[in-house]
Amino acid sequence: MARPLIGIPSPIERARWGAWDEPAHVLNRSYVDAVHRAGGAAVILPADPDWVTDPDQALDLIDGLLLAGGVDVDPQFYGAERHPETKRTVPERDTIEIALARRALERDMPLLGICRGMQLINVALGGTLHQHLPDVVGHGEHRRVIGSFANSDHDVELEPGSLAARAAGEEVHVTKSHHHQGVDRLGEGLVVTGRSMLDDLPEAVEIPDRRFALGVQWHPEADERSRLISALVEEAAAARVA
Ligand code: MN
Repeated sequence: MARPLIGIPSPIERARWGAWDEPAHVLNRSYVDAVHRAGGAAVILPADPDWVTDPDQALDLIDGLLLAGGVDVDPQFYGAERHPETKRTVPERDTIEIALARRALERDMPLLGICRGMQLINVALGGTLHQHLPDVVGHGEHRRVIGSFANSDHDVELEPGSLAARAAGEEVHVTKSHHHQGVDRLGEGLVVTGRSMLDDLPEAVEIPDRRFALGVQWHPEADERSRLISALVEEAAAARVA
């Protein structure tokens, strides 16, 4: 059977490579490799503005949607003023990912949001974010080193029987962490099924009446022991034959 196709909307960044220094689609290779290890094939989706009004054209190409990490979601999308620590945002990417996430949920397409991707799902469903966690939880342990997962591993406690616990394969899960924002008011239909054992911050959210709609605040693509991306690929394969 052909491998299930996992669509990953690409970040848009100014990047330097070879002779060039200009806007580019740049996705961490770790996402593509993790999908490959899980038996899927990654399809990197460019920032085509027409997908805002016609998300089905993108979703018709794929069997599952993975929303990757990256820059903060622009606070305009949850009606907040910009915090000084919310520095660079890419509203063009937010707009496309919000449209893809909402439509994937309407279609009941398997959906996994990672870090920013979890926060984006929350915003797409009307929720809000904490813009700078050290102001809220009083510590910086969710992101100790910018651009590295070093020394930020922490445990999350997952709700027994939840999709998060089934996908992780355990109820206490050690996580690769790199975030300074977090879920504040929960979006419509979401339930919190994982919390940081440091401070009770929501670290997993899901929609119980969808086949696979999960957001995690940590980085399974950076953890070769993690089963989470395999769980997405398996559900995408099942969704395709169903
Ligand atoms: Mn964390």
